[in-house]
Amino acid sequence: MSFIQPITLPSACLQPFNIQYKLDIYRGDLEHPNAPGNKWHKLQHHLKQAESQGASVIGTFGGPFSNHLHAFGATLKSMPFKAIAIVRGELQPQLTPTLRDVVEDGVELWPSSRADYRFGMDAQIVSEINQCYGNVYWIPEGGGGVLGAMGCHDWANDISTIDEEYDAWVVSSGTGTTAAGILSNVKAPHLHVFSALKGEPNQRVLISTLAGELAGESMSKEQLDAKLFFYSDCHEGGYAKQSPLLKAFMKEFAHNNPNHPLDPVYTCKSMFAVLGAMKKGAWPYRRTLFIHTGGLQGWRGYSKDTNPYACS
Ligand SMILES: *Cc1c(COP(=O)(O)O)cnc(C)c1O
Repeated sequence: MSFIQPITLPSACLQPFNIQYKLDIYRGDLEHPNAPGNKWHKLQHHLKQAESQGASVIGTFGGPFSNHLHAFGATLKSMPFKAIAIVRGELQPQLTPTLRDVVEDGVELWPSSRADYRFGMDAQIVSEINQCYGNVYWIPEGGGGVLGAMGCHDWANDISTIDEEYDAWVVSSGTGTTAAGILSNVKAPHLHVFSALKGEPNQRVLISTLAGELAGESMSKEQLDAKLFFYSDCHEGGYAKQSPLLKAFMKEFAHNNPNHPLDPVYTCKSMFAVLGAMKKGAWPYRRTLFIHTGGLQGWRGYSKDTNPYACS
């Protein structure tokens, strides 16, 4: 099986402008059976750092449907660390499917009030855990920071090794860490980044700054900026929300591409935006690679009738 596969485009993308668009997908969602997508890559350098600091406990943060917590549990399961997760909000007596997996992978859950959770590393609960365990290595929410981005810089190497023939890559963003890591790699072509969050137009600066730190001498700031295209208006209602248009698009996409499932929070919105531009004849590339960042486990937070990939 190749990790790069062709997407079937609807006829509206092909006919009116006589442009032969080629859109392929890099199936990051098929890597690492239990920890697919970008989150595994974001963890790698954090885990090395924890090891080199001689930490025996690793802690992190996430919500009850978090892809990051899910990947964290699955990745640490086979490693000699004790794993701790601070979960946003009160724990319900009935755990979410995500948290059930995380517990099964051996992660200790510490529920936190939303108010305390907001303080991140300065939260009360963090100091309680530090007192309890000592020498805890903390990974930021979502696996971010320079070390998280470094893992995605490496990921871009893996992807470009399979095929370097693309004019543009597409990736979804939340914190922008993944996009920054990919952008910092000289092998990445033009990078189109679609934010799943509402009201984050300034994230472009964040991505280019973080990419600059990683790129060092290999690319100038101007070169990085010329490669980066950032969209903050494709969130379809906000984080984890789905507009009626997006829902209709997903049905159509799932019908045309039943074997290429998109996730409900990130990749569906990027794909909607790219195909929308192609339908208008406004996508300026012929050969595009869409990087699937995973997140399919997140569908378990949505009702079955909104999921076009659910078996009925
Ligand atoms: C977390 C996540 C993203 C966003 O990654 P960032 O590095 O935070 O920008 C994109 N897609 C999926 C499926 C994710 O789970």
